[in-house]
Order: sequence, then structure tokens, then C-alpha cells
Amino acid sequence: MAEISRREFLRMGAVLAAGAGLSCDAAQALAAGLERVFSGQKRVLWLQGMSCTGCSVSLLNSDEPGPVELITQVISVVFHPTLSAAQGGLVTETLDRLAEAGDFFLVLEGAVCPKMPQACTVAGRPLTDLLPPLLKRAQFVVTAGSCAAFGGIPGADGNLTGAMGLKEFMIDRGIPVENKLVNCPGCPVHPHTMVTTLAYLAGVGYPAVDPATLTPNMICSASVHDDCPRFHHWQKQHFAEHFGDEGCLFKLGCLGPLSRSDCSHRQWNGGINWCIRAGAPCIACTSEDFAKRKSFPFYRLGEKYHAVAYDDADRKGTTT
Ligand code: SF4
Ligand code: SF4
Repeated sequence: MAEISRREFLRMGAVLAAGAGLSCDAAQALAAGLERVFSGQKRVLWLQGMSCTGCSVSLLNSDEPGPVELITQVISVVFHPTLSAAQGGLVTETLDRLAEAGDFFLVLEGAVCPKMPQACTVAGRPLTDLLPPLLKRAQFVVTAGSCAAFGGIPGADGNLTGAMGLKEFMIDRGIPVENKLVNCPGCPVHPHTMVTTLAYLAGVGYPAVDPATLTPNMICSASVHDDCPRFHHWQKQHFAEHFGDEGCLFKLGCLGPLSRSDCSHRQWNGGINWCIRAGAPCIACTSEDFAKRKSFPFYRLGEKYHAVAYDDADRKGTTT
């Protein structure tokens, strides 16, 4: 494995801190956190529940650090269902050993399904059986994406599996979430959100979170609407009537006021573009209700299906 220099860690820490609007001190702490994870001092166990693997694919679209750097040099992954070659007994032995040893970060991608445990297994064992000892022994637990955080698509109204987010599952099993669980929603989660959160946990500790959603304030304090480049159109009530028009996309179904995320700052695919700049309404993929409620469709017509309450006085100017 190639060595990463201290200078390179500092550069990556600075990029992550700038993306999250954090200070220079935080940049150094993030660099130290990345170094700790890289050196193997902080092992990361990545598990998948009911998911499409999209959040893992998103992670591989990371640009600072890049995907190869990320999985071969930065994140010390003990096991990842898609990336690891291990199967069967080797996997369950690894998980049992880890649960015994403790002191690792657990990342969960995808929802948990307690009503139908056989719908989601790891190496032949139901995830719902494997998770509790690992959750108890992990130093920190991070959800990757809205399915793991809030139930998401598998947790949609009418599902038979009882799919739910990890917070609900932990509370259900009597496992404390305070100062332990950080929710990183999104469909998929932004790769920088994951890397910044893991580096912060390793370098600084548990971040400030929203008490209800457990999402990190450094990334999710402002809504997409708060920092939207089309906000001036909203203020002037200048709404696009058709896709491709100038103007605020609210009447074409934009749910930006309901989604807390820093998409407008970081954008996607290395800062090339993002939903609203591409002319697509925000579908609130980071919100608690995303994909779950029949009353919360991806696309709504004007205000027919969903009343959006937003007071301009509540607008936050930054994500810090
Ligand atoms: S409703 Fe959507 S397009 Fe309009 S300002 Fe808000 S986030 Fe931007
Ligand atoms: S703009 Fe909205 S739908 Fe698009 S990634 Fe951000 S939160 Fe998700």
C-alpha cells in the first residue's frame, strides 16, 4: 500500500473542511482523523441492509480523496459486502471477532427489516441478528443514505418487511443512539458527507447534530432552498412553468424547502453540476419522509399534493 504524506492528509482535510464550511483548526483535525483511519487505528465496518448499493457507488465517485485512494489508502475497511472478496463463514467470523474486540466505526447502508428478517441476510445470517452486538461495541455508528437513516424506499408505505431506519431499530432494541449514531441521508449520500463525517469522528469526535434527525449540523443545517441560486426568483415569485425555463422550480415540484443538505455548495460529481442547476427540481432526497409517504411523491404538481410551509425570515445564509 502506498504511503500518503502528512502534507497530502492536510490537503484532503482542508478540502473537506472547506466543503463543510469549517475552520482551519477543523481542517487539521480532519487531516488527523483521516490519518488515523488510514493507519488502521480506526477500522471501518461497512454493512448493507435493504439497499440498491447506490451509496457505495456514490462513495466511489469521491474526488478528494479519489476512489482508489479512498478504499485502498484512506478508509481502513474491515469488510464491505460489495468490495470485499470474503464470503460465508469467513465474513461471520470477522464480524464476531470485531464485535468482541470493539473500537471500530460501523457504517450501515440500507434499511433494517425486523418484520421479515430473512429478507436481508449477511453470509446467511439475518442482519437483524448480526447488528445488535456490533452496534453495542462500535465506537460510532454512521448511516450512509436515506434508507439507513430513515427507512427510505424500502420503508415506503405498505411495505411488508417493516423496513425502518437504524435510529428506530436501535431505540427498539434498547441501544442508545446519543453521541453514537450520526445520520448521513441522501439518495445517494454525497461521498464528501461520508468522508467528512468519518474523518470528523476520528479526528474530533461526535459532531453537533440535529437532535431529531441526528444529521450533522456541519452539513445539514441549511435547506437546499436556503442557499439555492434560484432563490431570488422565489422571492420575486418568478416561477418556471416548463422544464428549461428560467425561474424558481417550485411550481414544477421542487421540494428544496424540505431538504437539508449542502448540495448547492458542493454540487455533485466533483462539483460539476447538481439537480437544480441541471434544471431538475429537488426531490428532497435527504428528508425524513423521502420515498416513504404516499403523500410525499418525488414529483408533485404545484402545491396540489403537498403544502410547503417556508418563512423567508427563517432562511439561513450559511451551512456552518
Ligand atoms: S423552491 Fe427549489 S428552485 Fe425554488 S428557490 Fe427553493 S430550492 Fe430553489
Ligand atoms: S438537490 Fe435535493 S434531490 Fe438533489 S441531491 Fe440535493 S437534496 Fe437530493
